[in-house]
Amino acid sequence: SQRTKIKALLTGTPTGTEVTVKGWVRAFRQNRFIALNDGSTNNNIQIVVDFENTDPALLKRITVGAAISVTGVLTQSLGQGQTVEIPASTLEVLGDADPEKYPIQPKKHSLEFLRENAHLRFRTNTFGAIFRVRNTLAFAVHQFLQEKGFVYLHTPIITASDAEGAGETFHVTNFDFDKIPRNDVGEIDYKQDFFGRATNLTVSGQLEGELGAMALSDIYTFGPTFRAENSNTTRHLAEFWMIEPEMAFYDLKDNADLAEDLLKYVIQYALDKNKDDLEFLSQRLADEEKQKPQNERSEMSLLDKLQFCLDNDFERITYTEAIDILRESSHNKKKKFQYLIEGWGADLQSEHERYLVEKHFKKPVVLTDYPKEIKSFYMRQNDDGKTVAAMDILFPGIGEIIGGSQREERLDRLEQRMDELGIPKDELWWYLDTRRFGTCPHAGFGLGFERLVLFVTGMGNIRDVIPFPRFPKNAEF
Ligand code: ATP
Ligand code: MG
Ligand code: MG
Ligand code: MG
Repeated sequence: SQRTKIKALLTGTPTGTEVTVKGWVRAFRQNRFIALNDGSTNNNIQIVVDFENTDPALLKRITVGAAISVTGVLTQSLGQGQTVEIPASTLEVLGDADPEKYPIQPKKHSLEFLRENAHLRFRTNTFGAIFRVRNTLAFAVHQFLQEKGFVYLHTPIITASDAEGAGETFHVTNFDFDKIPRNDVGEIDYKQDFFGRATNLTVSGQLEGELGAMALSDIYTFGPTFRAENSNTTRHLAEFWMIEPEMAFYDLKDNADLAEDLLKYVIQYALDKNKDDLEFLSQRLADEEKQKPQNERSEMSLLDKLQFCLDNDFERITYTEAIDILRESSHNKKKKFQYLIEGWGADLQSEHERYLVEKHFKKPVVLTDYPKEIKSFYMRQNDDGKTVAAMDILFPGIGEIIGGSQREERLDRLEQRMDELGIPKDELWWYLDTRRFGTCPHAGFGLGFERLVLFVTGMGNIRDVIPFPRFPKNAEF
């Protein structure tokens, strides 16, 4: 079935060419003009139907949502709103869409409605744009890392290590629920389970990724990650994609440099490749802003925000400096909000992060050297005895987009920290082996892919930037 995609028709095909287009009807006006879309672009091609010479039964079947195939000569359009159109010489309905039942009509649907109809929301301009941008960002991530010589290493989805996902892991088993074998004291006998041990879906590929980095030097994994997040937020999914680069011979500064370069590269790539889609999404956001009261409206358009992010160095500060800024702001009576902070040692709440990024620095912030108590066992201990070489990257409107660190490469320090935290060393013997044999400084980070897509598309809810969102009580399709 030879056919020309609508994007190609609108951007490169000379008029006078006979073409076949296939797609879904977005609108049908005056029994004459079809707006046809095939998902290659948000722009529709106009099909002109010679209704006087068309079977009325066929005309009736041209309804919003129907799949059709049209052949005709691409022609300059005299009408407004498009430059070219196709007078149909043949028109075939491939699949009807009963107008009484088809839920996606040309009117503007709410995002909530579309989330409930996520199986059909791909057919709207908003979601077409989002998923094309998502696709470009994924490609750009690979492109950037591949050009730097990184090896794409596939870490396992089923794993026995739960990294740090205490309480947030999904268990994997092939036990029948009504026949779970138990030992004498009533504990589940995982020895009889498929893998001969308890396993779960991965919450992060980092620990396995480190094994790769300490041989291949620079690796990344980019795959689905699973967390049974019981919170219903606009920033968390139960299944999300994570990009996790891990680099040998990198320190924390190298790590932050790579992360900043990667983010800027992929944003620039999307601006170049998906200009139309981002302009559409920018306009969409601007329309939404207009609904808000004046003082709550954002001064910058989406495109401005993306450009601003490209043009400025990310602010780099330590956790300790951040606490000082937050303390000062909470003492300053003139500031609208009181960013009360419990004091040094406490984890930052999202309103603290947002204050730093959106109010204080007004740009992305790389926050480093957190107290060791609030970070993971594998992060490298700093000489002050109190902090670790951690880094979080915070984005406006998003909060944490990246979490990373320089890893603890010294076996004695790592073991001592695991003991302090009660992490069983025998279960991670394979991880500790990298420190036993040829250990070296190394670092890495995890970039939440949906948070990146959220930032670039300007959407407000993470459930709207993944094709099939998984969240509590939602996994039908
Ligand atoms: P948060 O503080 O937002 O819960 P986290 O610190 O638990 O995130 P990390 O373990 O550092 O997350 O994971 C690395 C990155 O993965 C985060 O910076 C974020 O971009 C993304 N991420 C984490 N949890 C989720 C989730 N449930 N849904 C989508 N993205 C997530
Ligand atoms: Mg979390
Ligand atoms: Mg966090
Ligand atoms: Mg984190």
